[in-house]
Amino acid sequence: MLGRRWVLLVGFLIFMPLSHADQLIKAVRIWPSPVYTRIVIESPAPIVHHLFTLQSPLRIVLDLHDVRLQGPLERLPEAIHADNPDIAVIRVARFNPDTVRVVMVLKHPVEPVLANLAPVSDYGYRLILDIYPKLPIDAIARFALPQTSKRRFQTHLNSPVSHKTLLSHEIIVAVDPGHGGEDPGAHGVNGTLEKNVTLAIGRKLQRAIDAIPGMHAELTRTGDYYVPLQMRVLEAHEMHADLFVSIHADSQPGGHNVQGSTVYALSEHGATSVAARLLAKSENESDQIGGVTLPVQDPVLARTLLDLSQTATINDSLEMGADVLSELDRFHSLHNARVEQAGFAVLKSPDIPSILVETAYISNPIEEARLNNPAFQEQVAEAIAHGLYDYVHSNPSFDRILAGR
Ligand code: ZN
Repeated sequence: MLGRRWVLLVGFLIFMPLSHADQLIKAVRIWPSPVYTRIVIESPAPIVHHLFTLQSPLRIVLDLHDVRLQGPLERLPEAIHADNPDIAVIRVARFNPDTVRVVMVLKHPVEPVLANLAPVSDYGYRLILDIYPKLPIDAIARFALPQTSKRRFQTHLNSPVSHKTLLSHEIIVAVDPGHGGEDPGAHGVNGTLEKNVTLAIGRKLQRAIDAIPGMHAELTRTGDYYVPLQMRVLEAHEMHADLFVSIHADSQPGGHNVQGSTVYALSEHGATSVAARLLAKSENESDQIGGVTLPVQDPVLARTLLDLSQTATINDSLEMGADVLSELDRFHSLHNARVEQAGFAVLKSPDIPSILVETAYISNPIEEARLNNPAFQEQVAEAIAHGLYDYVHSNPSFDRILAGR
């Protein structure tokens, strides 16, 4: 009798954790950033989960149901490095037969935001946990924050005095390195990722602009993490930018010989070509691939975007784009000789002249090698900076700001 019971029990213990419903986690990725720490758990099917927090010590607990404690999930603790801004340590263990428990011990109070994303691009189902530091966050929070920075932004927009008169004497340029983090952008045939090239050129562009007297640049993204498109627009406003330049690298699947730079401005109605429309569509898909966990519901911004006609700003953007194009033309072929237009979400600042520069074709192996070459990156950055300089000095209102220094 006793023997038979033991056999039953042992059998139960062996088969219990390997129930056929348990799925194997495909990948786990961690993206620390100055803004938040993001943890992505990718799986073949949606994960049933439960999130809660515990005090002393501060912890976030994420229970994952019907998953196997194997592979990337088992190795998750090793993925947290000592310099992670938010998480001290992660522990993963089977909590009960149905549940794997992930415990994150925190370095300071946080606000976790969880989102379940459906498959897109090369990704399967993604459970995304964004861990935002709680107040005080002035130093760290640059965007999207539960409450505080949004409130800061609203105060700024509601101010009766335009930021341009408050902060005269210096032209501020928001430099926006495209993609980042979960969103790699386009892939080169030799494995180059657009997000890395755009950040390298963006940093060089920031230095080139800072070297021009009277001009100063800030980046919307300073590392390998994703910034939602509307947040890039918000950040430009928060930094009181006068100009906005988004950096990208173009791609045409199978088009190994397609080459050259293109500069884009916003279009309110339609696009100047089918190619421009398709490119804007693919760039606007960044948010689905990059993963946005917080809806951007800034009522002031939404109203501003709706109410203001952007015609005047678009005309300024076209002039600025033409100046940048003619500087790029000095050393690199142009894919389009004029500034193209389409509905790029990242160019929708109502009052900041904004352009998107597709620096070269990452899908062309020769241009891919150039994009990886620091000397070419520097040339591109210098050309864009000179184009912005030309634009600023040919525009009476900006020229006045510089003359007042
Ligand atoms: Zn891009």
